Amino acid sequence: MVYETGYYDLLGVSPGSTPEEIKKAYRKLALKYHPDKNPNEGEKFKLISQAYEVLSDPNKRDLYDQGGEQAIKEGGMNGGSSPMDIFNMFFGGGGRMQRERKGKNVVHQINVTLEEMYNGSTRKLGLQKNVICEKCEGHGGKKGALEKCSNCKGRGVQVRVQQIGPGMIQQIQSMCSDCQGQGEKFNSKDRCKNCNGHKVERKKKILEVHIDKGMKDGQKITFHGEGDQEPGLEPGDVIIVLDQKDHPDFQRQEDNLIMKMDLKLVEALCGFKKTIQTLDNRTLVICSHPGEVIKHGDVRSVQNEGMPLYRQPYEKGQLIIHFQVEFPEKAWLPEHLMYQLERLLPPREDVMTTDDMEEVDLCEVDERTQRSHSREAYDEDEDQPRAGVQCQTQ
Ligand SMILES: [Zn+2]
Ligand SMILES: [Zn+2]
Repeated sequence: MVYETGYYDLLGVSPGSTPEEIKKAYRKLALKYHPDKNPNEGEKFKLISQAYEVLSDPNKRDLYDQGGEQAIKEGGMNGGSSPMDIFNMFFGGGGRMQRERKGKNVVHQINVTLEEMYNGSTRKLGLQKNVICEKCEGHGGKKGALEKCSNCKGRGVQVRVQQIGPGMIQQIQSMCSDCQGQGEKFNSKDRCKNCNGHKVERKKKILEVHIDKGMKDGQKITFHGEGDQEPGLEPGDVIIVLDQKDHPDFQRQEDNLIMKMDLKLVEALCGFKKTIQTLDNRTLVICSHPGEVIKHGDVRSVQNEGMPLYRQPYEKGQLIIHFQVEFPEKAWLPEHLMYQLERLLPPREDVMTTDDMEEVDLCEVDERTQRSHSREAYDEDEDQPRAGVQCQTQ
């Protein structure tokens, strides 16, 4: 029994979620609320990170499930990691040391279909990024023409004195707006016209993202050094995260593909032949063996028709088929033909009844009362009168 669900709610998952589902939920939300993309949602970003930090660690998750947020706090388990550290750890950004010498990594998520992961594909992604200005090679102006900023006298800061009351003054220090705190600047005739002295310019860059056969949801493709350029800094990476779209027919489980297949009762009992459209548009034909009976919920597999293995695309997982048997509707067979069918079916077991037994009505179950009832049945209202199953009047 889970004590509270706040962290699960933040990530939009249920307390029964697998670690994979929790990862995926964090991935989506962290990218959505990252301050780079959503500067006004810093608080939300922090909360998501906290929730993920706890739920992604089996020990902390156990503790949370038993005692909620309070238990995490008392156990000293609400770690010191900043939301950004958690994000960088997850998406493979550098540590704090590395970040000083290196520009920021940029993470983008792209939607990928299961077909693309099956067949492989190339996607073009247009990104805006800062590059070192070509004209001035990142100097911002003519070499050697830097002058001390006259506005701040080279200190990079401006000090403003303000009178706030009789005999009381306040000094306000701020970054010099003329030289952006650099203390030196180009005068207008030496300043690079191309970047206006900013040393970098905004350019569009097209990245070719190769989605290899067998790549998985959440897999990262890193473009080293393709982040924003800045003079004196090694540029960060662009990290592309694949986000697999749901497929209407197939679900992926590691390298296997899972599908559902409906069978008519006659097919389940007397045999069937069916076709399956694969993700590379071939048609597979499957049939049952004579005399084989497929029951509702039975599972069969086809070898080597699952997902291609990453980096060994000639090998594939399995295609796993879950059968669902459709029974005919009420009154599908006139009553006088029933005995013919019965003659063919395996014989029924006769039941002996005596007068001291009670014959009762068999009713339809009302889905709604059934559901709420069964959930609470083990809880507190054990001794309250039960809602009971309503008979439908026919
Ligand atoms: Zn200045
Ligand atoms: Zn320039």
